[in-house]
Amino acid sequence: MEFTAQEKYEFKRLLDDLRSKTGRGTELISLYIPPDKQISDVSSQLREEYGQASNIKSRVTRLNVQSALESAMSRLRLIPKPPDNGVVIFIGNVDVGANKTEMYSAALEPPDPITTYRYHCDSSFLLEPLEEMLADKKTYGLIVLDRREATVGMLRGKYVIPLKHLTSTVPGKQRKGGQSSHRFQQLRLIAIHDFYKRIGESANEAFLAVDPKDLQGILIGGPSPTKEEFMDGGFLHHELQHKVVDALDVSYTDESGLNELVDAAQDRLLDLEVTQDKILMRRFMKELVSDRGLASYGDKEVRHNLELGAVDTLLLSDDLRKTRAHIVCSNRSCDFSEDQTRSATSPPPGNCLKCGSPLSIDQEEDIIADFSRLADQSGATVKIISSEFEEGAQLYKAFGGIAAILRYRTGHQ
Ligand code: ZN
Repeated sequence: MEFTAQEKYEFKRLLDDLRSKTGRGTELISLYIPPDKQISDVSSQLREEYGQASNIKSRVTRLNVQSALESAMSRLRLIPKPPDNGVVIFIGNVDVGANKTEMYSAALEPPDPITTYRYHCDSSFLLEPLEEMLADKKTYGLIVLDRREATVGMLRGKYVIPLKHLTSTVPGKQRKGGQSSHRFQQLRLIAIHDFYKRIGESANEAFLAVDPKDLQGILIGGPSPTKEEFMDGGFLHHELQHKVVDALDVSYTDESGLNELVDAAQDRLLDLEVTQDKILMRRFMKELVSDRGLASYGDKEVRHNLELGAVDTLLLSDDLRKTRAHIVCSNRSCDFSEDQTRSATSPPPGNCLKCGSPLSIDQEEDIIADFSRLADQSGATVKIISSEFEEGAQLYKAFGGIAAILRYRTGHQ
């Protein structure tokens, strides 16, 4: 299942929310149920846990664990069979401040299949398996080589994974006595060619197994001219050959050479990573200072341009932590209502301007969802921009996290 930018953002927010929840004792239950697991097996394990919970010394913790287990079991009764990717359940009494706790429960189908069944009881929820699913799956093929040794590996997200280590039988430059120099050089070249061929085969096997849309590129490291000889010699499968993005000098050709290669390619990798977002932000900045003026920013202005259907591309910072709320008057005979953009530090809605009765929040949703819907209605493209590069951070700091590239000039810039 491929997440859209917005789904990914929402999933990330959900994890932030779950991460903020804590229990008083070890009483928050996380349950990871793989798709092929029988729900009845899970239920019977929970019944066992319920029995064992009677040994918990602290009375409060014991009662909380048992009530969480009861809720989990009744929740399971509603799930006859796990969905395609399995199901994750979080349940427990979470601290809500002011010396109070509240029963919290959530069930969700993760973006990738759950592979391992887990029952976890702690003072916080177990989120690592979900965090791993959200982690970057972008993959780079890595090859480090000289004439004696080579290592093939991959960079997946932030992790370097060594896959294959090869050594050659290429003889050193010094020939043995009695061998003709010409014959020796010939044998040496054949041995080098064979070694490159073996490296190519290992790399093909490893990299062709990666989903082509996840394989961003291939990096080759080693001394010159070895890496160039390998790169230009057609030892890689033709589909992989055009994914080679760079060849860099590294001094090691074992596992540590893979790390050295990734370090050496850092700027290049970062460039590839954020290029798309960067291009859009630069386009926005250029429009901002140009006479055409096809740039707009800020909640009010961009909202207006979306309503006019004038937005081509909507740029939202993934650091935005705001909501859009529908405010109504508590006096039923009063028809006052308004929409507000709110943040965690916004004061309560206050009193009605028409009748003075207290106002209350009727509906509230995340501002990214709110803006994305407006964009969908007018056919604008939505881009959620990471703050992890300079222009992305600027979108949040200088433009309030909301900006747009317009189709035409509207006077609401
Ligand atoms: Zn009113």
